[in-house]
Amino acid sequence: MPETITAKSPFDVAKIREDFPVLSQKVNGHPLVYLDNAATTQKPWRVIKRMEKFESEEYGTVRRGAYQLSESSTRMYEEARQKVADFLGTPDRNEIIFTSGTTQSINLVAYSYGRKFVKAGDEVIISNIEHHANIVPWQVLCEEKDAHLKVIPVNDRGELIMEEYEKLLGPKTRVVAVNHMSNALGTINPVKEIVDMAHAVGAKVLIDGAQSTPHLNLNMKDLGCDFYTFSGHKMFAPSGIGGLYGKMEVLKTMPPYVTGGDMIRQVTLEKTLYADPPSRFEAGTPPISQVIGLGEAIDYLQAIGMDKIAEYEHSLLEYGTKVLEEIEGLRLIGTAARKASILSFYTDQIHPHDMVTLLDQDGIAVRGGHHCAQPTMQRFKVPATSRASVAFYNTYEELDLLGASIRRAIKLFS
Ligand code: PMP
Repeated sequence: MPETITAKSPFDVAKIREDFPVLSQKVNGHPLVYLDNAATTQKPWRVIKRMEKFESEEYGTVRRGAYQLSESSTRMYEEARQKVADFLGTPDRNEIIFTSGTTQSINLVAYSYGRKFVKAGDEVIISNIEHHANIVPWQVLCEEKDAHLKVIPVNDRGELIMEEYEKLLGPKTRVVAVNHMSNALGTINPVKEIVDMAHAVGAKVLIDGAQSTPHLNLNMKDLGCDFYTFSGHKMFAPSGIGGLYGKMEVLKTMPPYVTGGDMIRQVTLEKTLYADPPSRFEAGTPPISQVIGLGEAIDYLQAIGMDKIAEYEHSLLEYGTKVLEEIEGLRLIGTAARKASILSFYTDQIHPHDMVTLLDQDGIAVRGGHHCAQPTMQRFKVPATSRASVAFYNTYEELDLLGASIRRAIKLFS
């Protein structure tokens, strides 16, 4: 272990690992090394058991029935909303809208806010290192409205070029939509600066927090963004649930995105009056059990402490970077000064798809591909990368195993 790395973790990793049943299994005869946390994370027993208890003993529909099961389900559902609000650092839980995840959250904003406020000739700014979920909805909006999509370029380390961003901003900018943390490179963007600069020209800001939410201590009120998105399955909670934080004053100006039951104040056959946020944006029966699971995952993360998680993951990232840098012929894609969790790499000898297949033979789960970020791949002139991404249940030893397995794969192909 390099001298610069502290081997001591701020918490007991071995004990943490016992919380995650999936981690104790073997894959291809080897202990599973799960390093695909940027794609999706594993769930602790607490979350699994909480959902099982809810489904088996407590299940009822929300927001409707006046009987006990429905009332208590509704209370638990709203308590989970409060947990998300506390986790994201907003005092008003009505600023939290449950969605199926980041993709739906961004679409909600692009359709609802975008279609009302973006007009012909207006501009929307994204960056060169966005996930497709934060590109396509804006492209569709701009095409429909005859608006223009502008792109913040990145330098060779994968950092946004802020001088170029400043040049793109102007009186026509309506929305700036960038990620807090890139899923392909791990770059942490200077979101506070991005928000302040956009607000200075009167634009609204959406931050795609799909990657940052499980790694950083967040505070919406300090950050000041208008929208922030997240996905439960990337933060040790179930898939199919996530959300959107929106400033109440902005949410109130927005029309519904999906319509139907639960989002209304009153319906006559002639006209419908909409409910206030968040109900206005939560039409239909929600995934109740998943919401309860999300609340439990947040309790679990809060009990460990987001600062401790960030500290440990940072040392894992530094260690993993050293391990990979020592491998001849391997190029790290994404070397920003501020990054988290992600080690994206490329070797000329092996295509990433072959690389990840060989790593799997050693029980190591990493992702190979364009990571739904093809413009990022185009910027770095690679067809795809292999990507290892750590969470707080990973260890230095697992990163050593990754290094050894990559070396073996390269040897096989040279
Ligand atoms: N944005 C980023 C940065 C992501 O990493 C992802 C998931 N890979 C998404 C958006 C989309 O999230 P979801 O599939 O959970 O909707």
